[in-house]
Amino acid sequence: MICLKNIRKSFNNLEVLKGIDLQVGQGEVVAIIGPSGSGKSTLLRCLNRLETIDQGCIEIEGEILATETADGGCQYAREDKARAICHKMGMVFQQFNLFPHMTVLDNIIEAPMIVKGIRREIIIPEAEELLRKVGLAEKRDNYPSRLSGGQKQRVAIARALAMKPDIMLFDEPTSALDPELTGEVLKAMRQLAQEHMTMLVVTHEMAFAREVAHRVIFMDNGEIVESGTPEQLFGKPQHDRTKAFLDSML
Ligand code: ATP
Ligand code: MG
Repeated sequence: MICLKNIRKSFNNLEVLKGIDLQVGQGEVVAIIGPSGSGKSTLLRCLNRLETIDQGCIEIEGEILATETADGGCQYAREDKARAICHKMGMVFQQFNLFPHMTVLDNIIEAPMIVKGIRREIIIPEAEELLRKVGLAEKRDNYPSRLSGGQKQRVAIARALAMKPDIMLFDEPTSALDPELTGEVLKAMRQLAQEHMTMLVVTHEMAFAREVAHRVIFMDNGEIVESGTPEQLFGKPQHDRTKAFLDSML
């Protein structure tokens, strides 16, 4: 469960999140759509503390990461607690961000070993299982430079899953891929959704949002303009801004 209340975030004088309220339930898949610069990535990055918020409250699985103070500011949890909360969330970026000097297997086992102190012989079979799951068992000992974009992104998903997150955040995971490679990544994500992973997915893949998301959120100019089931949002958008955006995507 994710609970966001009145999230505000500015970069210098530019307010990019203007009071975001959002709740995501256990096992829910929420797609976030919206024009470039609307604040979608910033919202995801604020969730796992890649950016800090200026105001508002962030609660993850009942634990408070940041809370509103009386003066309208924001107080973060202590460092060790904040870190533990953020480890409940895995993130997959547009640009895979794999470690180029490590094999596929080492990319996956690095964080569980370093961050969680799990022993190599324990984590390796789990990593192999994750690689099987994303269809890349045979790439175990390859370096990222030898993989296609779609394969790299599936490794990035496996790597995030190796930390056993309760929530997965995806920021346009297929945008850097050639069209013929997006399908294999979306398939891995669809499978995760079927396993009831809680997922927040920023995406331009309207077909994926329509098919896999339980809820679609349209952001524009730092605000959630509209939110609903895929049928509601794509079929009967209520706001002109949503309609204009959806028309532009056709
Ligand atoms: P896109 O679809 O292009 O990825 P987005 O909806 O993800 O867009 P964000 O990346 O969240 O948009 O950016 C929202 C606004 O915040 C933009 O105007 C952007 O220029 C600005 N911004 C984002 N990160 C920073 C930063 N680190 N410093 C200053 N401005 C930033
Ligand atoms: Mg973005």
